[in-house]
Amino acid sequence: ITDKINALPDGANYFSLEFFPPKTSMGFANLQSRLERMSQALRPLFVNVTWGAGGSTATKSLELAEICQRQLGLTTCLHLTCTNMSRKLVDEALDQARVLGIRNILALRGDAPRSEEYREEGQLPEDDSNKDFTWAVDLVRYIRQQYGDYFCIGVATYPEGHSDQSHPEAQDPKYDLPYLVEKTQAGADFLMTQLFFDVEAYNKFETMLREHESGAFKTIPIIPGLLPIQSYQILNRVSKLSHAKIPADIVARLDAVRGDDELVKQVGVKILSEIVEHMKGRPSPTRRGFHFYTLNLEKAVSHILENCNLIPQPLLEDDDDAIELTPSADF
Ligand code: FAD
Repeated sequence: ITDKINALPDGANYFSLEFFPPKTSMGFANLQSRLERMSQALRPLFVNVTWGAGGSTATKSLELAEICQRQLGLTTCLHLTCTNMSRKLVDEALDQARVLGIRNILALRGDAPRSEEYREEGQLPEDDSNKDFTWAVDLVRYIRQQYGDYFCIGVATYPEGHSDQSHPEAQDPKYDLPYLVEKTQAGADFLMTQLFFDVEAYNKFETMLREHESGAFKTIPIIPGLLPIQSYQILNRVSKLSHAKIPADIVARLDAVRGDDELVKQVGVKILSEIVEHMKGRPSPTRRGFHFYTLNLEKAVSHILENCNLIPQPLLEDDDDAIELTPSADF
């Protein structure tokens, strides 16, 4: 991913799309045809495949990652959590990713570790190797130790903080900062953020990182996470789960049309397009990218990408030196 970002011309923008593995084979078939359409029409720089906490979707995540990387030829970033699952499962996931030709891992903690609970209850799981992984940084270190530079590693970050039962104070992004420095120094190559709608909060957060005294975030790609608005209900549910504030002006614009699902989508596309345009205009030490939490849906994100001229030109087949250019690329 970082090689691809660095190969983009100065001033170019890029985007990535996130998908989760469907539960049923019918869902998989539907997603596969949607992915084929989206990858041809939209040409994301890379796609992400989520991982169920504790390894609950391990097989399906790897299956979806295989479709993306192998069948569709998309640069794929596999999410991987490290707590509440055995080290064997971590090893198998990383090995399988390598076999599939996947070069990118988003290294996550997942839910807070349960080892202590188990210990208190006197029922340690048979394979307690998950005590090796308490925080995401443990997974970053482990991947670097086992695989050297084979994987490009991303880590999660939270512009508005996030609620964590074991660390209620983590609502403040400043609390996370030393740990984010640690993850970067342990070998993370890029940061990907939790979704947000409060652009001012994001800008403040990005500036805080860029100016941090450690220098850890001076040039690292920071990829903001954006949620296309699919419906009033989904927006409220997801923003509660992710602790993303919805600024009053956005609430008012959506409230005005909340009875009409189609209008909510249209206004949502406009809101997200404005957010992207605003951020495109801000200076950045690296090419500016955008990560879209698609919820496996196609239309809203396609409209936002079209509105914001983020879809790169197709590669010229005969041109060995061809690189993907966004229309806004300064050439
Ligand atoms: P960490 O970086 O380990 O941080 C967790 C908390 O512990 C923070 O509050 C941090 O400040 C604190 N902390 C870190 N290190 C230390 C330390 N040494 N001492 C004390 N405190 C410390 N979840 C999934 O299950 N599957 C997914 O696919 C998935 N994808 C995600 C994608 C993105 C972009 C984001 C932002 C989140 C995603 N998550 C996913 C959610 C994530 O697993 C949770 O938010 C989890 O609770 C925290 O993960 P982390 O990697 O940020 O943890």
